[in-house]
Amino acid sequence: MRTELAADFLATPEGPRADAILRSCVHCGMCNATCPTYQVLGDELDGPRGRIYLMKEMFEAGKPNATARTHLDRCLTCRACETTCPSGVRYGELLEIGRGFVEDGLKRPWLERVVRRWLKGVIASPAWLRRWLRLGATFRRFAPKRLRSLIRRPEAEEPAGGTGEILLLQGCVQRVMTPETNRHLASLLTSRDLSVRTDANEGCCGALALHLGDVDDGRTAMRRNLDEVDWRSADRIVSTATGCGVTLKDYGHLLADDPFHGKPAHEFAARVHDVAELLADFSFDKRTDIDRVAWHAPCTLQHGQKIAGLVERLLTDAGYELVPVRDPHLCCGSAGSYSVLQPEISSELRDRKAAALTEHGPDAVATANIGCQMHLADAVDAPVLHWVELLR
Ligand code: SF4
Ligand code: SF4
Repeated sequence: MRTELAADFLATPEGPRADAILRSCVHCGMCNATCPTYQVLGDELDGPRGRIYLMKEMFEAGKPNATARTHLDRCLTCRACETTCPSGVRYGELLEIGRGFVEDGLKRPWLERVVRRWLKGVIASPAWLRRWLRLGATFRRFAPKRLRSLIRRPEAEEPAGGTGEILLLQGCVQRVMTPETNRHLASLLTSRDLSVRTDANEGCCGALALHLGDVDDGRTAMRRNLDEVDWRSADRIVSTATGCGVTLKDYGHLLADDPFHGKPAHEFAARVHDVAELLADFSFDKRTDIDRVAWHAPCTLQHGQKIAGLVERLLTDAGYELVPVRDPHLCCGSAGSYSVLQPEISSELRDRKAAALTEHGPDAVATANIGCQMHLADAVDAPVLHWVELLR
């Protein structure tokens, strides 16, 4: 694609990166075929090719516009388009630049600003999330319908600590909503003579702020973890939430231009493993109460981390029957804070995904990200579990 980006934008660190990505797109439109929002809305501007074009227009004009913002807001950041693209266009990176450009140059209406600030303040802080969930659980019936499914009583807090070669980052939402997943992973690793520890100084990985286009806040969260968490003494770093894992693996790239944190970020990211990578060389037994499983691979695992087939192999080796699932590449609509900010599209995608997952009557649905797990639990009758909880 030919580009003539505004000189001011080209002079920023993001400008040349955006230019190179835009030029790698040949505008073939193959990515539209696997884009969930294009499938639901049927509008060219709600597919990756249209969004790429809108970003090119913005960068050429040197200023953001409300039309581009609307269509970028509707993007799930699922990156299915990246998996499909034959030209290797780094859409996720371009979107991150585009969203940052919009947030920096175009003020949102006050209500949107309040909701976004609230999301960043609450979801990224386990202490605040606990308080809000306790309050929400008391007044659940008065909450807006779209928020009710997200309101549950939080689990008791797990003390952080221990000694070990594997650092388990507990995740802001994971540790509040389903701490048993982290507990179970720790027991699996211990049973294989691997020692695990957690760190009381762990903060948000930065994924939520990045999703909301606030690159500065995201990078601040990353620097804080690099400075305050004792990660240097760990051989490997793991998170049971693939939404966090994909961002943790990207620290090196996201802080590449930081003169102080760039090198540590790169070293940190090299130690991050997905749970499936950590468990790949071991074998496990299955639970006796579940035989047939529908597997939902989160976008952050299959498109973000490009890990496909590994969880399926571990579950099959343990003795589970994996039932066929239609359109496994499609997002369930959870996508971080998307279910709160874009409730109609999110619900439609969730219902489609729930129908695909339950078509062959599984005993349970397994997934790998707390966001997907909570989102789907509302629409699926079978239990929705993190896949590590199926291993014994
Ligand atoms: S992003 Fe890739 S698949 Fe989509 S239009 Fe560009 S080159 Fe084609
Ligand atoms: S990230 Fe997902 S929703 Fe966004 S354009 Fe790509 S395929 Fe579509």
